[in-house]
Amino acid sequence: YSTIGKVFDLTVEKFPHKEAVYDATKQVRFSYFEWQQEVNKLANAFVEAGVRKGDRISTYLFNTIELATAYFASAKIGAVINPINFRLKEEEVAYILKDAAPKIVLFEKTLESTITEIHQGFSEISFWYVDMETPDYALNYYDQIQDSTSVPIEIDVTDSDPYAIMYTSGTTGRPKGVIHRHRDMIEQSYMCISAKRLTKNDRGLVAAPMFHCAELHCCFLPRVHVGANNVIIHHFEPKQVLQIIEDENITVMFGAPTMWNMILQEKLDHYNISSLRVGLYGAAPMAPVLVKECKERLGIPLIQAYGMTEMGPAITFLEEDEQLIKAGSAGKPGLGHLIRVVKPNETGPSEPNDVLKPYQVGEIIVQGPCMMEGYFNRPEETEKSMYKGWYHSGDLGYFDEDGYLYIADRVDDMVISGGENVYPREVEDVLYEHDGVLDVAVLGEPDEKWGERVIAFVVRKREDLSEQELDKFCKNNNKLAAYKRPRKYIFVESLPRNASGKIQKFLLRKELEQNTN
Ligand code: ATP
Ligand code: MG
Repeated sequence: YSTIGKVFDLTVEKFPHKEAVYDATKQVRFSYFEWQQEVNKLANAFVEAGVRKGDRISTYLFNTIELATAYFASAKIGAVINPINFRLKEEEVAYILKDAAPKIVLFEKTLESTITEIHQGFSEISFWYVDMETPDYALNYYDQIQDSTSVPIEIDVTDSDPYAIMYTSGTTGRPKGVIHRHRDMIEQSYMCISAKRLTKNDRGLVAAPMFHCAELHCCFLPRVHVGANNVIIHHFEPKQVLQIIEDENITVMFGAPTMWNMILQEKLDHYNISSLRVGLYGAAPMAPVLVKECKERLGIPLIQAYGMTEMGPAITFLEEDEQLIKAGSAGKPGLGHLIRVVKPNETGPSEPNDVLKPYQVGEIIVQGPCMMEGYFNRPEETEKSMYKGWYHSGDLGYFDEDGYLYIADRVDDMVISGGENVYPREVEDVLYEHDGVLDVAVLGEPDEKWGERVIAFVVRKREDLSEQELDKFCKNNNKLAAYKRPRKYIFVESLPRNASGKIQKFLLRKELEQNTN
């Protein structure tokens, strides 16, 4: 068997002097051997501080070398890492700390005010400050590791031990803690290595948030697994991303669709990004026109990954050579994964044997080697979502006749207008084709006559874009039946997105309610 700690040590053994990681903000660069010393020191410091196998260690950090180090240090001692979303505020962070009940929380200066606000409610937690001038309720991270030894620590960890609790994005409700075991994530890593054809010569940019498993498990871990390099930036900023790609000869990078969209708004000819060999996108739908624009203007092939925290996350890939022939599809199942589209059941979990035919839209369910052990502290939700051994995604989709999966939308986001189903994503994809549209979210609004009607929130590229122009566009391009066309356009400065790039439609719905009341 293998564990995340062993994966790390084996890479160090193979490539001790190869560059492993570079924190571009702190300008710290480690070879694999040097990094292993840091990892071991931190692992020993954790044990010294009383952390035992199974205890949680939370990180409330932006993308930093310390998060990367804590990830492997925690795995080595059989502790359970819990990276917290750095965009969450006091009440949300307190909710997670209560739920995950960690022994230690690492946090940084930029997020200090949140912890200062809530720490008193958590006297049993030891807060470690990853910066200078430590607040008096916390310990200093660097002091904690200063006298710690780098001698490897012997703790019996097996591949079926939990190694992480990752919280879902909270797009549809409160974030849920997902328990992953060592072997689940090693499987996920192998699958991503193969889908991206990663090698030791790759140089990856960590621009998406590391607290989300799309970056952590599909990108960062696989790169360590093969002995490639990780360049870490604090958080996503399009100009910095382009500059670092040039300066650090980045070959591969993952971005949520909104990140790629922001990159496209920059002056691309100011940068030499020819080192980039492939881009990854996923975590949220990306309109086919945007994929095409990335291909043309960035000059790179793209790979899409579709998945969810509960599955590690990736479960399908649309590979480089499939982008044009199967535009709009999420691809085929990743290695070892079995996916079905089944008849949705309104009163409980869908039955795994109610399999639908190609092009029939139903709930996407999946089995595979990376499936979570379950939700932390949520036995009922675990039972429902893992009904009869299949993970029930809550996403709607269909297969085409060639076995390519298409995501229609989330069950909860579907609009029913005059008895017809409208998948907002389809309408969004069409609106993205209009050159005056920067960002768009489509949703349903209660309507006396039709039950619900379709409306669109739009961020414009130019001020003079009008409702009439958009309506005409939808009418004329023959892609949307009349009942799918938005009845109303609301122009906004920006759309509320969570850190994984997903539009928080529940906030838009709230806004609508407030406006009508
Ligand atoms: P919560 O479960 O807390 O409501 P969440 O489902 O957004 O939040 P994640 O696990 O981060 O949390 O996201 C998984 C979801 O993201 C999927 O169920 C799907 O709806 C969406 N998604 C992921 N990848 C893609 C993709 N490539 N295309 C379209 N949608 C995607
Ligand atoms: Mg979810």
